[in-house]
Amino acid sequence: MREVADQAPKWSGAPGPAGAGKAGNDDCDPHGGAGAVMARRGIILKSAREIERMRAAGRVVHAVLARMQELALPGVTTAQLNMAAEEIISSAGGTALFKGVRNPQARFPFPAALCTSVNEELVHGIPGERALCEGDIVGVDCGVRLDGYCADSATTIAVGRVSPQAQHLLEVTRRALELAIGLVRPGRKWSEVAKAIQRFVEGENLAVVRDFVGHGIGRDMHEEPKVPNYWDDRQKRAEFELAPRMVLAIEPMVNLGTAAVDYADDDRWVVVTRDRKLSAHFEHTVAVTDGAADVLTDGR
Ligand code: MG
Ligand code: MG
Repeated sequence: MREVADQAPKWSGAPGPAGAGKAGNDDCDPHGGAGAVMARRGIILKSAREIERMRAAGRVVHAVLARMQELALPGVTTAQLNMAAEEIISSAGGTALFKGVRNPQARFPFPAALCTSVNEELVHGIPGERALCEGDIVGVDCGVRLDGYCADSATTIAVGRVSPQAQHLLEVTRRALELAIGLVRPGRKWSEVAKAIQRFVEGENLAVVRDFVGHGIGRDMHEEPKVPNYWDDRQKRAEFELAPRMVLAIEPMVNLGTAAVDYADDDRWVVVTRDRKLSAHFEHTVAVTDGAADVLTDGR
């Protein structure tokens, strides 16, 4: 990608244009709030019923990621992981969100249900014949649409025994996501959460990725707003206030070395760290409630 610093951040998952501005159409909602669009930022608020549909999609995503925890062993190929994911998604009656997604920068549509990103690969790794090795870390990112509604979640798995550095990276990235979820409440500005993620990660001598960010999610995989994991003066346009019935894919991406990233090759899908050191990624789809956060991809 050869990013320039002032370039707009990309969404993670499988990048594409945001579906901002489209209203939802669940007109059966007893609360009358279905498809409401927040005037300022094109953020589509969801009804209680829509959120339950997203939770149902989230259960399928959770089942996929739980299975990946069992399968991601030395000798298993990333294509085998993808095949298992596709079976779980189709037997649940869902469709894989990432498969066939077009990215204007990439040479072909994304070919798989799962992104499998090994070691220095950050996001958008393409499953193939690569066999996992003892000591690898593999990020698995999965999105599902079920009955018209989407959910998106990712985790990074240690393959066998990993180095203490790798273990620290996984632990910090997972805790960064938990910290962010714990800060979600109506009225809070996203900049407060982003600053807290960044402060925590940098306090552990690790780097937060700037070039890819989280996103709103609903009927579309990528909706407004952008959900960055860091904050600086250039991020002011990204500011928004958390409000009930907003649903966000929160997804910190953390690097062992530099925050800078590149594409791995001319296909322009697989994103790697510029210094080829390890990267980790954890993600949940989270609804803002009247009180706090409701995680839709934790399998409950
Ligand atoms: Mg994702
Ligand atoms: Mg995502």
